[in-house]
Formats: sequence, structure tokens, C-alpha cells
Amino acid sequence: MLIDNHGRKINYLRLAVTDRCNLRCFYCMPEEGLSWLNRTELMTYEEMLRSCALLVKMGIEKIRITGGEPFVRKDIMQLLTALSKLDGLKELSMTTNGVLTAPYVAEMKALGVKSVNLSLDTLDANRFFTITRRDEFANVMTTLDELLKHDIDVKINAVVMEGKNTEDIIPLVELTKDLPVSVRFIEEMPFNGDGHTYSGLQWDYVHILEKIRAQFPNIEKLTDPAYSTSYNYNIPGHQGSIGIIAAYSRTFCGTCNRIRITPQGELKNCLYDDGVLNIRDLIRNGASDEELEQNLLNAFSHRVKDGWEAERNRFEKTGVHESMATIGG
Ligand code: SAM
Repeated sequence: MLIDNHGRKINYLRLAVTDRCNLRCFYCMPEEGLSWLNRTELMTYEEMLRSCALLVKMGIEKIRITGGEPFVRKDIMQLLTALSKLDGLKELSMTTNGVLTAPYVAEMKALGVKSVNLSLDTLDANRFFTITRRDEFANVMTTLDELLKHDIDVKINAVVMEGKNTEDIIPLVELTKDLPVSVRFIEEMPFNGDGHTYSGLQWDYVHILEKIRAQFPNIEKLTDPAYSTSYNYNIPGHQGSIGIIAAYSRTFCGTCNRIRITPQGELKNCLYDDGVLNIRDLIRNGASDEELEQNLLNAFSHRVKDGWEAERNRFEKTGVHESMATIGG
């Protein structure tokens, strides 16, 4: 079992397999995209697999594949297939924008993928275009249908943004009436790759809940699962549930069980940190598994207390505003 220097169990890895994306969500990256990494800078699937196998041996029980958009990386199902065979891995899941996902759902189900996070900030095709700068709403909805048809648990991730999609909060909640989905509202974070357009948080978790409660006064609090990043609720009679993720307010750091690996192999102990170890470079410099393990253990014994400390450290060091596409959401 992996325990960090604050006594927190680490058992969850989020692996970003690419920085590239087929959407241009304004809160995540600039309209013209980012200066993409060269392919040689990306971890290869072999490097990812070796890192994951070692981490699973050390105590990681759950791996989520993310990006960028995982399905824009060639042959992503090969990686998924190999990961699904790792001894000791209890859960393999994925976060996707759903644009290219539908044709792969049956194969994902067959590999044992039980849950998928689908990003969907609005149920209106025009607003979808305004937010993502791409006309792909219909494809995302097809993916949602496919996931439900294959009995895969769906968590819909919706970032709440003043002036962009607050009129979608109630329709998204209403989606839980007839569909067994968990709709999770996420506070917007300052990760759009340029740092200029984030004008402070207007929709924090309290405000989001107030808006929902005004329409559904009978909303009930559910018991949050261990390590949950969301406050969870249910509306009596609804099949699905609602979650609110205080991603900016960072109320959940005290039980943080997750680590991240970026597409270029940078290990992150926190979403808000600047990377604490480059696994790809260690591998390419010929590190043995024992050396990799020692370096990883050292990194896990120096985790910051919370996302505020991580953000302060990163900004002091780099002054750089990052894009979520290079972190992995
Ligand atoms: N392309 C995949 C997708 O769209 O789900 C995976 C990567 S995406 C970066 C992962 C998640 O991060 C998405 O749900 C997205 O909405 C969220 N995200 C990106 N930028 C964000 C921001 N500035 N604040 C809050 N959430 C953000």
C-alpha cells in the first residue's frame, strides 16, 4: 500500500495519453490550440505500460485514461487492452469528450471498463459550439446513448461558467430523472493555457447547490464514497444522481488519493503542481525498475498538503499558466 507523507493512501492514477484534443473548449485551451508536443516527447505505450505495471505493483488500484482527448491518440485501444490485463488493477476507466468514442464502446465494455466520465457542459447544440468551438454535439450524444446501452456507468462532467452555460444547470439535473447518470458540476479552474481570461470564480459549489435547490427543494444529500471529490445528491424519484466538485475551492485535498502522469511522463502529486519527477526521462536514461520505484517513493514522501500550496509553489517557480489538456483534467 502506498501512503504519502501526510498519511494519505495513494491508489489512483490518472494517465494523460496525449496533449492533443479535437475540441477547443475555451476554459481549457486557446482557440488556435496549443503548441503540441512532438511525438518523441510523448511517452510511448511501452513506457506507459511499464510505469503502470510498476505503480500497480506498488499499490495503485485504479487507472483512469485521460488527455487531451484519449481517442485522438492512435491505437489507444491497444494501450487499454494491455492495461486491462495488469494483475492487481481493480478498475480501468476513461475520461473522454465523446466525439470519437461511440464506435469503441462495445470493445471498452468487453475489456472490463465499468465507468466513463463524459464531458458535456450543455444540452444545447449552439451553446456546445460556443463553448467547444467545434460542431460535435450530435456525436457526443451518440456516445452517451452507446454508453448507456452497454450498461457502462456514466458520469457527465459539466464545468459551470457564468455567461456560458448556467442556463444548462437545471436541464442537466433533469437528465437524471430518466437516465441512470451522475451529472457532476465542476467549478471552473484557471487552466485555459493563457491565464488571461479567468476572471475569478463566480460559480462555486455553494452557489451551484443553491441554484439546484431553488428548483428542487427536496434534493437530498447522499453519503459520499471514500475519496470522493464530489459532494453527492439525489432528487427523490430520479434514477441518476448529482455531484458538485469544488475543483477550485479544493475542499477535498485532505483525502487525496490520486496522482497524475502527463503525456510527457511528468509525475504530478497534485493537479495544481508543476510536476515532481519525469518518469519518461528516467526510463530513457536506462533506469531499472528498482531505481524507478525508489524515485517514485521519494516523490510520494514529499507530497504537498493541498492544492493551494501546490499552486503557490508552481507559480513562484514558473509564473506559467497551464492548460488542462497538458495535465489531464
Ligand atoms: N478530453 C477529455 C474530456 O474532455 O473529457 C479528457 C481531458 S479534459 C482536460 C478532462 C476534464 O477536465 C473535462 O471534464 C474538462 O471539462 C475538465 N476541465 C478542463 N479545463 C477545465 C477548467 N479550466 N476547469 C474545470 N475543469 C476543466
